[in-house]
Amino acid sequence: MNDPVNDHMNATPIFKRVALIGFGLIGGSIARGAKLQGLAGEIVTTARSEKSRARVAELGIVDRVVATNAEAVKDADLVILCIPVGACGPVAQEIAPHLAPGAVISDVGSVKGAVVRDMAPHLGAGIHFVPAHPVAGTEHSGPDSGFAELFINRWCILTPPEGTDSNAVEKLRAFWAGLGARVEIMTPDHHDLVLAITSHLPHLIAYTIVGTADELEEVTSSEVIKFSAGGFRDFTRIAASDPTMWRDVFLANKEAVLEMLGTFNEDLSKLTRAIRRNDGEALFEHFTRTRAIRRGIVEIGQDSAAPDFGRPHAHLGKKAE
Ligand code: NAP
Repeated sequence: MNDPVNDHMNATPIFKRVALIGFGLIGGSIARGAKLQGLAGEIVTTARSEKSRARVAELGIVDRVVATNAEAVKDADLVILCIPVGACGPVAQEIAPHLAPGAVISDVGSVKGAVVRDMAPHLGAGIHFVPAHPVAGTEHSGPDSGFAELFINRWCILTPPEGTDSNAVEKLRAFWAGLGARVEIMTPDHHDLVLAITSHLPHLIAYTIVGTADELEEVTSSEVIKFSAGGFRDFTRIAASDPTMWRDVFLANKEAVLEMLGTFNEDLSKLTRAIRRNDGEALFEHFTRTRAIRRGIVEIGQDSAAPDFGRPHAHLGKKAE
């Protein structure tokens, strides 16, 4: 298991100047973790709205908050787009002329194929594009929602295009490892297929079920809320996730999500039939199989078997001054 405190203490920062475009849950968590671990000589950030930029300045986590994306990326050796997937292409086009030669440019988008398709054409030779997706999050958003421990023991998937400078990939890998993440490399298409089943479809199901409950006539909303501990509560947490982010995810990963949804619908039909036919054996067999998957997740440390009163308390060590 990673020990972000001892394994990744950086005597010298990995990047001299890190520019974070967007300072919400993910950008804010990267900034907090990178500061704590000394991964960046300087962190410069910007957000789309004046309101968010003012709040980021007030929080005092980063070295500089600037008004434009162009200004943020100036002389940065690492630029990370921490914005909705649908905004990555236009922002890449906007900042491309201002990137420093040799800079590593990355993102944190939950979909990789569409981000690569939208960003890569704008990035010239001498710029190292290493797309990334930290598989970690909460349902919260905005400048106050981030925390330094978010990435500890979570996976960060890098999807560098073929032929990407290996030194750039290694530096970004070290940066994410410094934030406490475990890093894996895969192709954008494979990433999108894996995430369609592990993240995108579960979110779609949560959005559906919470919407369905909201529209029921025989069961009142107050009853749904009152008895939510029966399982519904866990769906409501996921269904509270940011609407802009998730709209973009489904539009950007349309093919893979539709493929998984097709399989899901077939399986749902099988279970529906088993219930209708009083086929207890089929239900029992199915639930036994799924229980084993849950145990596997706990065994590899991606969740706790303890009652879910919040994430297990993990702490990034503070770097010695
Ligand atoms: P967030 O908390 O809502 O923050 C989004 C940031 O992007 C804000 O600073 C926002 O500025 C800025 N922004 C929004 N629209 C923009 C646009 N059109 N152009 C430029 N900047 C824009 O979102 P987040 O949860 O950090 O998500 C950011 C990215 O991380 C997304 O691509 C998402 O797919 C990915 N991701 C999210 C999670 C998760 O669980 N949340 C996990 C892994 C990866 P304002 O505040 O001024 O609007």
